[in-house]
Amino acid sequence: MDLLEIHHRLLDHFGPLGWWPGESPFEVMVGAVLTQNTAWSRVEPAIENLRREGLLEARRLRAVSRERLVKLIRPAGTYRVKARYLRAMLDWLVERYGGDVERALAGETAAKRAELLSLPGIGRETADSILLYAGGHPVFVVDAYTRRIFSRHGLLRGDEDYDRIRERFEAGLPRSAPVLNELHAQIVNVGKEYCRPRKPRCGDCPLAFLFPAPSALHFGSRLVDRTRGSVTGDQSR
Ligand code: SF4
Repeated sequence: MDLLEIHHRLLDHFGPLGWWPGESPFEVMVGAVLTQNTAWSRVEPAIENLRREGLLEARRLRAVSRERLVKLIRPAGTYRVKARYLRAMLDWLVERYGGDVERALAGETAAKRAELLSLPGIGRETADSILLYAGGHPVFVVDAYTRRIFSRHGLLRGDEDYDRIRERFEAGLPRSAPVLNELHAQIVNVGKEYCRPRKPRCGDCPLAFLFPAPSALHFGSRLVDRTRGSVTGDQSR
Protein backbone atom coordinates (compact mmCIF):
# COMPACT_ATOMS: atom_id res chain seq x y z
CA MET A 1 0.00 0.00 0.00
CA ASP A 2 1.51 3.32 -1.07
CA LEU A 3 0.25 5.67 1.62
CA LEU A 4 1.87 8.71 0.06
CA GLU A 5 0.05 8.06 -3.19
CA ILE A 6 -3.20 7.80 -1.23
CA HIS A 7 -2.40 11.08 0.50
CA HIS A 8 -1.62 12.83 -2.80
CA ARG A 9 -4.72 11.52 -4.52
CA LEU A 10 -6.87 12.70 -1.64
CA LEU A 11 -5.11 16.06 -1.71
CA ASP A 12 -6.01 16.38 -5.40
CA HIS A 13 -9.58 15.42 -4.60
CA PHE A 14 -10.30 17.44 -1.44
CA GLY A 15 -7.64 20.16 -1.59
CA PRO A 16 -5.96 21.14 1.71
CA LEU A 17 -8.33 20.50 4.62
CA GLY A 18 -6.47 22.51 7.26
CA TRP A 19 -7.40 20.55 10.36
CA TRP A 20 -8.00 20.57 13.36
CA PRO A 21 -11.09 22.78 13.62
CA GLY A 22 -9.81 24.69 16.66
CA GLU A 23 -8.34 28.14 17.17
CA SER A 24 -5.64 27.18 19.69
CA PRO A 25 -3.83 24.05 20.93
CA PHE A 26 -5.84 24.26 24.15
CA GLU A 27 -9.10 24.32 22.21
CA VAL A 28 -7.87 21.23 20.29
CA MET A 29 -7.25 19.41 23.57
CA VAL A 30 -10.70 20.27 24.89
CA GLY A 31 -12.29 19.29 21.57
CA ALA A 32 -10.41 15.96 21.54
CA VAL A 33 -11.97 15.02 24.88
CA LEU A 34 -15.45 16.30 24.01
CA THR A 35 -15.61 14.52 20.66
CA GLN A 36 -15.18 11.04 22.15
CA ASN A 37 -18.12 8.91 20.95
CA THR A 38 -19.80 12.06 19.68
CA ALA A 39 -20.22 13.70 16.29
CA TRP A 40 -18.27 16.92 15.90
CA SER A 41 -21.50 18.78 15.16
CA ARG A 42 -22.47 18.21 18.82
CA VAL A 43 -19.09 19.35 20.10
CA GLU A 44 -19.20 22.69 18.31
CA PRO A 45 -21.96 24.23 20.46
CA ALA A 46 -20.17 23.09 23.63
CA ILE A 47 -16.93 24.73 22.46
CA GLU A 48 -18.93 27.81 21.49
CA ASN A 49 -20.35 27.99 25.04
CA LEU A 50 -16.83 27.91 26.46
CA ARG A 51 -15.63 30.52 23.98
CA ARG A 52 -18.53 32.86 24.75
CA GLU A 53 -17.70 32.64 28.46
CA GLY A 54 -14.01 33.28 27.80
CA LEU A 55 -13.08 29.86 29.18
CA LEU A 56 -10.84 28.49 26.44
CA GLU A 57 -7.80 28.87 28.67
CA ALA A 58 -6.60 26.21 31.08
CA ARG A 59 -6.53 28.12 34.38
CA ARG A 60 -9.81 29.91 33.77
CA LEU A 61 -11.59 26.70 32.78
CA ARG A 62 -10.16 24.87 35.78
CA ALA A 63 -11.55 27.54 38.08
CA VAL A 64 -15.19 26.98 37.08
CA SER A 65 -17.38 24.82 39.25
CA ARG A 66 -18.15 21.24 38.22
CA GLU A 67 -21.85 22.09 37.79
CA ARG A 68 -21.14 25.08 35.58
CA LEU A 69 -18.76 23.03 33.44
CA VAL A 70 -21.34 20.27 33.07
CA LYS A 71 -23.90 22.84 31.91
CA LEU A 72 -21.53 24.42 29.39
CA ILE A 73 -20.46 21.16 27.75
CA ARG A 74 -23.89 19.53 27.87
CA PRO A 75 -24.44 19.66 24.05
CA ALA A 76 -21.49 17.27 23.58
CA GLY A 77 -23.31 14.43 25.38
CA THR A 78 -22.16 12.20 28.28
CA TYR A 79 -21.34 15.54 29.86
CA ARG A 80 -20.79 14.38 33.46
CA VAL A 81 -18.16 11.87 32.42
CA LYS A 82 -16.57 14.33 30.01
CA ALA A 83 -16.51 17.03 32.69
CA ARG A 84 -14.60 14.62 34.94
CA TYR A 85 -12.11 13.83 32.17
CA LEU A 86 -11.69 17.50 31.31
CA ARG A 87 -11.03 18.42 34.93
CA ALA A 88 -8.42 15.69 35.25
CA MET A 89 -6.68 16.97 32.14
CA LEU A 90 -6.85 20.54 33.45
CA ASP A 91 -5.39 19.49 36.82
CA TRP A 92 -2.47 17.87 34.99
CA LEU A 93 -2.00 20.85 32.70
CA VAL A 94 -2.12 23.49 35.40
CA GLU A 95 -0.41 21.71 38.31
CA ARG A 96 2.41 20.32 36.20
CA TYR A 97 2.86 22.93 33.49
CA GLY A 98 1.22 26.09 34.79
CA GLY A 99 -1.48 25.79 32.10
CA ASP A 100 1.09 26.12 29.30
CA VAL A 101 -0.02 23.67 26.57
CA GLU A 102 3.12 24.15 24.51
CA ARG A 103 5.31 23.19 27.46
CA ALA A 104 3.03 20.30 28.43
CA LEU A 105 3.26 18.74 24.99
CA ALA A 106 6.93 19.48 24.24
CA GLY A 107 9.42 16.63 24.39
CA GLU A 108 9.81 13.08 23.21
CA THR A 109 6.66 11.72 21.55
CA ALA A 110 6.50 8.33 23.31
CA ALA A 111 7.01 9.93 26.73
CA LYS A 112 4.30 12.51 26.05
CA ARG A 113 1.92 9.82 24.81
CA ALA A 114 2.51 7.83 28.02
CA GLU A 115 1.83 10.95 30.09
CA LEU A 116 -1.45 11.63 28.31
CA LEU A 117 -2.50 7.98 28.52
CA SER A 118 -2.05 8.08 32.28
CA LEU A 119 -4.93 10.58 32.50
CA PRO A 120 -8.45 9.24 33.01
CA GLY A 121 -10.54 9.17 29.86
CA ILE A 122 -7.63 9.70 27.48
CA GLY A 123 -7.32 6.66 25.24
CA ARG A 124 -4.89 6.11 22.41
CA GLU A 125 -6.90 7.86 19.70
CA THR A 126 -7.50 10.91 21.89
CA ALA A 127 -3.86 11.01 23.03
CA ASP A 128 -2.62 10.84 19.45
CA SER A 129 -5.10 13.48 18.29
CA ILE A 130 -3.76 15.79 21.00
CA LEU A 131 -0.13 14.95 20.19
CA LEU A 132 -0.63 15.61 16.48
CA TYR A 133 -3.06 18.49 16.36
CA ALA A 134 -2.16 20.36 19.55
CA GLY A 135 1.49 19.36 19.94
CA GLY A 136 2.68 18.98 16.35
CA HIS A 137 4.07 15.48 16.96
CA PRO A 138 4.34 13.31 13.84
CA VAL A 139 1.92 10.52 14.81
CA PHE A 140 -0.76 8.75 12.81
CA VAL A 141 -4.20 8.83 14.42
CA VAL A 142 -6.07 5.54 13.99
CA ASP A 143 -9.84 5.81 14.05
CA ALA A 144 -12.89 3.79 13.01
CA TYR A 145 -12.75 5.30 9.52
CA THR A 146 -9.18 4.04 9.07
CA ARG A 147 -10.21 0.53 10.07
CA ARG A 148 -13.29 0.53 7.85
CA ILE A 149 -11.71 1.99 4.71
CA PHE A 150 -8.53 -0.05 4.72
CA SER A 151 -10.17 -3.31 5.74
CA ARG A 152 -12.65 -2.92 2.88
CA HIS A 153 -9.66 -2.91 0.56
CA GLY A 154 -8.06 -5.90 2.25
CA LEU A 155 -5.18 -3.76 3.51
CA LEU A 156 -6.10 -4.24 7.17
CA ARG A 157 -8.11 -6.88 8.94
CA GLY A 158 -9.76 -4.10 10.87
CA ASP A 159 -9.51 -5.60 14.34
CA GLU A 160 -5.76 -5.21 14.81
CA ASP A 161 -4.41 -3.56 17.92
CA TYR A 162 -4.38 0.24 17.68
CA ASP A 163 -0.61 0.56 17.97
CA ARG A 164 0.07 -2.10 15.33
CA ILE A 165 -1.95 -0.09 12.81
CA ARG A 166 -0.39 3.19 13.90
CA GLU A 167 3.14 1.85 13.57
CA ARG A 168 2.39 0.33 10.18
CA PHE A 169 1.07 3.61 8.81
CA GLU A 170 3.86 5.63 10.37
CA ALA A 171 6.45 3.30 8.80
CA GLY A 172 4.98 4.00 5.36
CA LEU A 173 4.87 7.77 5.68
CA PRO A 174 7.35 10.60 6.22
CA ARG A 175 7.79 11.64 9.88
CA SER A 176 5.99 14.85 9.05
CA ALA A 177 3.24 16.30 11.23
CA PRO A 178 1.71 18.28 8.30
CA VAL A 179 1.44 15.10 6.17
CA LEU A 180 0.02 13.01 9.02
CA ASN A 181 -2.32 15.84 9.99
CA GLU A 182 -3.67 16.11 6.47
CA LEU A 183 -3.92 12.35 5.87
CA HIS A 184 -6.02 11.78 8.99
CA ALA A 185 -8.35 14.61 7.98
CA GLN A 186 -8.58 13.11 4.47
CA ILE A 187 -9.45 9.66 5.85
CA VAL A 188 -12.20 11.18 8.00
CA ASN A 189 -13.60 12.95 4.93
CA VAL A 190 -13.57 9.74 2.88
CA GLY A 191 -15.29 7.91 5.73
CA LYS A 192 -17.99 10.53 6.07
CA GLU A 193 -18.63 11.29 2.42
CA TYR A 194 -18.02 7.96 0.68
CA CYS A 195 -17.14 5.00 2.84
CA ARG A 196 -20.32 4.85 4.85
CA PRO A 197 -21.11 1.80 6.94
CA ARG A 198 -23.94 0.92 4.56
CA LYS A 199 -24.05 1.69 0.86
CA PRO A 200 -20.51 3.02 0.33
CA ARG A 201 -20.28 5.37 -2.65
CA CYS A 202 -17.40 3.56 -4.33
CA GLY A 203 -18.28 4.81 -7.79
CA ASP A 204 -17.52 8.41 -6.80
CA CYS A 205 -14.80 7.73 -4.24
CA PRO A 206 -11.22 8.93 -4.78
CA LEU A 207 -9.95 5.66 -3.25
CA ALA A 208 -11.71 3.38 -5.74
CA PHE A 209 -8.31 2.94 -7.45
CA LEU A 210 -7.33 0.74 -4.49
CA PHE A 211 -9.62 -2.02 -5.66
CA PRO A 212 -7.51 -4.82 -7.07
CA ALA A 213 -10.14 -6.35 -9.34
CA PRO A 214 -11.41 -4.60 -12.48
CA SER A 215 -15.08 -4.85 -11.71
CA ALA A 216 -16.08 -6.17 -8.34
CA LEU A 217 -14.83 -7.54 -5.05
CA HIS A 218 -16.18 -8.98 -1.89
CA PHE A 219 -15.94 -7.31 1.45
CA GLY A 220 -17.58 -8.58 4.54
CA SER A 221 -20.60 -10.51 3.38
CA ARG A 222 -21.45 -8.21 0.53
CA LEU A 223 -20.43 -7.71 -3.05
CA VAL A 224 -19.61 -4.21 -4.19
CA ASP A 225 -19.76 -3.30 -7.81
CA ARG A 226 -17.06 -0.68 -8.20
CA THR A 227 -18.36 0.48 -11.55
CA ARG A 228 -21.63 1.56 -9.96
CA GLY A 229 -20.37 2.08 -6.44
CA SER A 230 -23.26 0.24 -4.88
CA VAL A 231 -23.86 -2.80 -2.79
CA THR A 232 -25.33 -5.27 -5.23
CA GLY A 233 -26.50 -8.01 -2.95
CA ASP A 234 -25.72 -10.44 -0.22
CA GLN A 235 -24.32 -12.95 -2.62
CA SER A 236 -21.51 -14.36 -0.54
CA ARG A 237 -23.82 -16.04 1.96
S1 SF4 B 1 -13.76 2.92 -2.79
FE1 SF4 B 1 -15.55 2.22 -1.62
S2 SF4 B 1 -14.75 0.84 -0.05
FE2 SF4 B 1 -13.05 2.07 -0.83
S3 SF4 B 1 -12.87 3.82 0.53
FE3 SF4 B 1 -14.14 4.42 -1.17
S4 SF4 B 1 -16.25 4.04 -0.53
FE4 SF4 B 1 -14.89 2.88 0.84
